[in-house]
Amino acid sequence: QDVINKIAAGEVVQRPANAIKELIENSIDAGAKTIKVKTKKGGLEMFQIEDDGCGIPMEDLPLAGVRFATSKLQEYTDLKDIGSFGFRGEALASISHVGHLTITSKPVAQEVAYKIQFDGGKPNGEAIPSAGRNGTVIHVKDLFHNMGMRQKSYNANEEQFKEKIAEVIRAYSIHYENLNFSLFRIDKSQTQVRSWNLPDRKTIIQHTYSKEVSSNILTTKLSDEEIGVKGEIFFTSSGYSGKKFILLIFVNNRLIESKQIKQIMETVYEEYLPKGARPWVYLNLSMPGKNIDVNVHPTKMEVQFLHDERIYEMIKKKMDMFLIPTKE
Ligand code: ADP
Ligand code: MG
Repeated sequence: QDVINKIAAGEVVQRPANAIKELIENSIDAGAKTIKVKTKKGGLEMFQIEDDGCGIPMEDLPLAGVRFATSKLQEYTDLKDIGSFGFRGEALASISHVGHLTITSKPVAQEVAYKIQFDGGKPNGEAIPSAGRNGTVIHVKDLFHNMGMRQKSYNANEEQFKEKIAEVIRAYSIHYENLNFSLFRIDKSQTQVRSWNLPDRKTIIQHTYSKEVSSNILTTKLSDEEIGVKGEIFFTSSGYSGKKFILLIFVNNRLIESKQIKQIMETVYEEYLPKGARPWVYLNLSMPGKNIDVNVHPTKMEVQFLHDERIYEMIKKKMDMFLIPTKE
C-alpha cells in the first residue's frame, strides 16, 4: 500500500514546479495577498511557500496533510469544478509521500502558530506551538529522498527545474496582478522574481520579463456567449529576442498547458515573426467547468475543451486581426 501511495504521489508531484504550483493555488484559495517562495537546489533540497492567508486552525492541522482531506468541497457546487483543478485534497498528502513536509500556520484568531510534520501521508507527531506570523508556511525538505532513481536523474536537471519554478511564479504574478509574489533562491541569495506594488499587468510583464516584451504587447478581449467562453489575450506584436516561446495559459484561474493552443499560436505567428524572434503570449480564459476535461494527465496540467475547435478558431481570428505581416 505504501509503495502504491508513493507511486501515485510521484505522479502528482512530478517536478518541484508542480508541487509549488499546487501550493501557490492553496495560498490563493486561502485569500493570501503576499506569497513568498524560497527554494534551494531547484526545489530538490528545499522549497517553502509562505503566505498571509486565512491560516489553518490548530485542531485542523493533523488533517491537512492527509489524503482527500479538503476544506473546500462546500464552496464548489459544480462537481466538475471540484474535480478540475486541484480541489481534491491531494496536494499536501502527495507531497508528504515524496518529501518531508512541515506546515506552520496561524489564523488571526489564534494566539500562537502551530507546526506539524507529515511523512507518507500521516502526521509525524502532534501539532506543537511555534513562532509564526498570521498565515501559513509550507516547508518541504529532501524531495524524492525515497525515490533514488528519480533523485539521481533529477540532479542533472537542476537548471531546468529552477527555470520551471520561476516560470510558474512569473505566470501567477501576471495573472493575479493584485497579489504580491516573490521567488528567492537561497543558494544564490538573490531574488528571482518580484512583483510587489506594481500598478498593472503590463508593468508586471515588464518587470518579470523585459521591457522589450511589454512595449511590444497587444491586448484584446475574447467572448463567445453561446458557449459561455470569455477571456483576453496579451501578446507580442512581433516577438522578442528571447530564447523561448513563452506561452502562459490560464483557464478558470489555473495555469494549464495545451499542446493544441501552442500549435495554434505557432501557426498564427509563423507569418508575422521576424527571423530569430520568439512570441510571448498570455491567454486568460474562463468557461463553465463542465466543459473542461482534465483527466488527461495526473498533474492536471493538460486540459481539453468541449468546444475546442470553436475556441481555437476564435483565438486565431482575433490575433490575426491585430498582427501585421513582416514577411513577404
Ligand atoms: P485541496 O487544496 O484540494 O483542498 P490540499 O492537499 O492542497 O487539498 O490542501 C488540503 C487542505 O489544507 C485544504 O483544503 C486547506 O484546508 C488546507 N490548506 C492547505 N494549504 C493552505 C494554506 N496555504 N492556507 C490555508 N489552508 C491551507
Ligand atoms: Mg490544493
